Amino acid sequence: MQKLIILGAGESGCGAAILGKQQGFDVFLSDNGSIKAAYKAELEAEGIEYEENGHDNARIMAADLIIKSPGIPDKVQLIKDLREKGTAIISEIEFASRYSTAKTIGITGSNGKTTTTMLTFHLLKTAGFPVQVGGNIGFSYARLVSSPIPPHSKGEGDMHSTSSPSGRGGVGLFVLELSSFQLDDIKSYRPDIAILLNITPDHLDRYEYKMENYIASKFRIGMSQTGQDSFIYNGNNENITNYLSQHSFGKAQGIMVKKSLFDIGILRYPEYNLEFNLKATQLKGEHNWFNAYCAVKAVLLAGVPPGDVQRGLDTFQNVAHRLEYVAEVRGVEYINDSKATNVDSVFYALGAMEKPTVLILGGTDKGNDYDQIADLVRQKVKAIVCMGKDNSPIINYFGGFGLPIIETFSASDAVAQAAHLAQAGDCVLLSPACASFDLFQNYEDRGMQFKEAVLLV
Ligand code: ADP
Repeated sequence: MQKLIILGAGESGCGAAILGKQQGFDVFLSDNGSIKAAYKAELEAEGIEYEENGHDNARIMAADLIIKSPGIPDKVQLIKDLREKGTAIISEIEFASRYSTAKTIGITGSNGKTTTTMLTFHLLKTAGFPVQVGGNIGFSYARLVSSPIPPHSKGEGDMHSTSSPSGRGGVGLFVLELSSFQLDDIKSYRPDIAILLNITPDHLDRYEYKMENYIASKFRIGMSQTGQDSFIYNGNNENITNYLSQHSFGKAQGIMVKKSLFDIGILRYPEYNLEFNLKATQLKGEHNWFNAYCAVKAVLLAGVPPGDVQRGLDTFQNVAHRLEYVAEVRGVEYINDSKATNVDSVFYALGAMEKPTVLILGGTDKGNDYDQIADLVRQKVKAIVCMGKDNSPIINYFGGFGLPIIETFSASDAVAQAAHLAQAGDCVLLSPACASFDLFQNYEDRGMQFKEAVLLV
């Protein structure tokens, strides 16, 4: 029996353990922190051996195959030792793909992954396709593969047929959100349709502070694609277009998406002679038009009929904490964009604002460079409310802008101050450009506390 050792017992590790057991591996799961009770119960029910709060290094070094959680950096000594020994190390995504015949749409990028993934899933579901969603959100790919949905009888479209020209039989279709960490240890996984949304600086601490390493990681999504696969990418992102002009890359059919195809909230697909309108949808702002363009292109390739596409766009509920409309109180609109943990996402959030804006910024600053939003702040922002333990980077940067800047240390205080600064016809936008861990458990907690505070204004 092949010894499979899984490092990290989160959703991806547990999914991989279950799939590994099903596939006849001798599975051992090891986590150097504590494992959530629900996962432990599941592992016990499945009869899978595990350890927590430390690694049995000798046992791990004897593995035939390692699956490494995307959260574990390569610089960890155990990983270095395993690599030196030549042990195969793969990601859970790679492992799952080896045991799946279902087609996948893989979605990556620095920003917009969850929105685009959920929209793609929603469009397919609305059209009655046998589709499941997961990867970096919700269920891991391995867990989806361990209990696939049955073949579906609807229609003749490529993605849901039970056989395909490339020989990948279908048992449904998976829409996968993929982070760069998950892509780092793939070897042969190839999405039938890949979407690369954008590449802007993020997570550089994991890439030796070299942007080119991070860019290369994102491009792994397409490296094993064949001529029958599609690669949808952002033609307005220089990191992407420069990479493509300098590297020979993959074999997929490249589909470049440029602003002119979606610039006023109308999505144009001249190749199908089709247009879709986003006016009546929740997809606000140029960045969401772009996300929608990519999602729609993917589902058209998958065979979704155009009528179902517009119906799906009109009924899509945007994911919480991403430019989420909260309420209008005394003529002031409140918007929760707590997921905006970097400057690029604030740039797009401000771009989507049509009213004078009180901006709530701050948290754990990852070395932000606010130059990217300076012009938009001058044009659209009437006051800044800081919400973080250390607000000095924001005060130092925006101090000379001639705007009121108020410091606060909680969501309720931030909302109260913002409400005081805003007048009817304005909007209050929480789009912090920072991680949330200084004052909150995570960005969801920050967004929830913001929403609760708005209801008390
Ligand atoms: P991810 O899963 O990549 O973090 P989300 O869909 O959760 O992406 O959105 C994260 C943040 O980025 C939100 O603030 C959202 O408004 C913003 N955003 C969404 N799509 C884009 C895009 N295409 N470009 C830039 N920012 C975006």
